[in-house]
Amino acid sequence: RAKADGRGTYRFFETGMDARAQARRLLEMDLRAALQRDEFEAYYQPIRDVASGRVVAFEALLRWNHPQRGLIAPIDFIPLAEETGLILQLGEFVLRSACTDAATWPDDVDLAVNLSPVQFKNPNLIASVIAALAASGLDARRLELEITESVLLQNSEATLATLHELRAMGVRISLDDFGTGYSSLSYLRSFPFDKIKIDRSFVSELATREDSMAIIRAVTGLGRSLGIVTTAEGVENDAQLELLRREGCTQAQGYLFSKPRPASDVAVMLNRPRLLASA
Ligand code: C2E
Ligand code: MG
Ligand code: MG
Ligand code: MG
Repeated sequence: RAKADGRGTYRFFETGMDARAQARRLLEMDLRAALQRDEFEAYYQPIRDVASGRVVAFEALLRWNHPQRGLIAPIDFIPLAEETGLILQLGEFVLRSACTDAATWPDDVDLAVNLSPVQFKNPNLIASVIAALAASGLDARRLELEITESVLLQNSEATLATLHELRAMGVRISLDDFGTGYSSLSYLRSFPFDKIKIDRSFVSELATREDSMAIIRAVTGLGRSLGIVTTAEGVENDAQLELLRREGCTQAQGYLFSKPRPASDVAVMLNRPRLLASA
């Protein structure tokens, strides 16, 4: 392993690579070591039913407890983990630890886990989901897997077969970050999703942009007609929640209720009643 010389540079890489490539290479080595050293942790963010205010699920969100750099968010390591294939090990870790944690929660509280498109191309995905459920004892019907449209862009028959197989096991499938990317409505026809997660960008502009309001109205209406649950991401204030409630959005998730927190805080997040604005 290369050693830091104390000023944040690594002598080993001083020649032959540009700074970006060096930084990448270092991060990759760091990621591998972090897996060995057990520096990853699943955090959890509550998802509430809008009508009742009840916590219906937690989404597992990966964090890296870096010994020097502190807590690192997924945006800073997931892309590289995907490029290098390390996401397979990371994904396995999240699935196993989150299922184990969720098995200790009340039965009516579900678990949502994000899946990378890379995990989807892996032929072992089904086996690792089965193994995580078996090892934890978590009922498959309490597990939701979140995928983005990019998974469907791969649009192979294998992808659809995998999704159908998961669903046949009782696992639910959510379409994450809806409204970003290409968001073709035909995706909703090519696979029977259980849930649509409306991207945070639409929620954050609810009060200021008419078109965001119109899009949220359209998506919640679509969800209602198709019998698909809609979840708004990134709800930060009561005004947003009230608008979502009025549009009949099923669930809400965001800093208004809680930021993602460690597993040891789940009990507190469950017991802290968060009364909804005017019902
Ligand atoms: P995502 O799945 O769309 O997760 C929601 C993100 O929005 C989380 O960011 C969450 O902390 C953030 N968020 C929630 N409520 C609010 C809010 O009210 N305001 C703001 N500003 N942000 C809010 P996070 O944890 O940084 O994760 C970012 C993305 O990284 C996730 O987006 C997901 O795509 C990916 N990710 C996280 N964990 C995993 C994982 O275990 N596996 C994979 N493949 N991807 C993951
Ligand atoms: Mg997600
Ligand atoms: Mg999302
Ligand atoms: Mg998002």
